[in-house]
Amino acid sequence: MYSNTHPVNVLKFCPRCGSAHFQATCNRSFKCEDCSFNYYVNSSAAVAVLLFNDKGELLLTRRAVEPHIGKLDLPGGFIDPGETAEQAAIREIQEELGIQVHSLRYFGSFPNEYVYSGFSVYTIDLAFFAQTENLHQMTASDDVSSFEFHKLQDVDPEEMPSISMYNIIKELISREGTY
Ligand SMILES: [Zn+2]
Repeated sequence: MYSNTHPVNVLKFCPRCGSAHFQATCNRSFKCEDCSFNYYVNSSAAVAVLLFNDKGELLLTRRAVEPHIGKLDLPGGFIDPGETAEQAAIREIQEELGIQVHSLRYFGSFPNEYVYSGFSVYTIDLAFFAQTENLHQMTASDDVSSFEFHKLQDVDPEEMPSISMYNIIKELISREGTY
């Protein structure tokens, strides 16, 4: 009923007391029968950043790491605890591309299931438009191997590595001219 990577099939022991009597009460909640510890599977927040060059082409990156190594992606990543989504977007672009962005503007939220080390992490990817004057200074680093610009109509959403990135591209195309 659940995939091998679903938390119900991965989390076998109570993280507090180590008991094996750690039962899923539904698909996103666990309770320890020995110490009453409750654990909930919630969405992890992440950001994706939408940067366009002066020809109106979208910046896409190539993944340097698994999952989906070598595939196209949007720059971004997980939001650290205590960080705002806007701070995370600025930090991720600095880490992956070495430039400063500003004037972040919210586009929408896109759910995803991100399988990492055999575990499904449910995410909510928050997409932001951003501005920069430093596109010509970009250098790929961290979990990005290279970057490229594409006209939206030339991007095949099927090439994107996840359902959230697929839906971001689809929505950018369907709303083109309105944002
Ligand atoms: Zn316990």
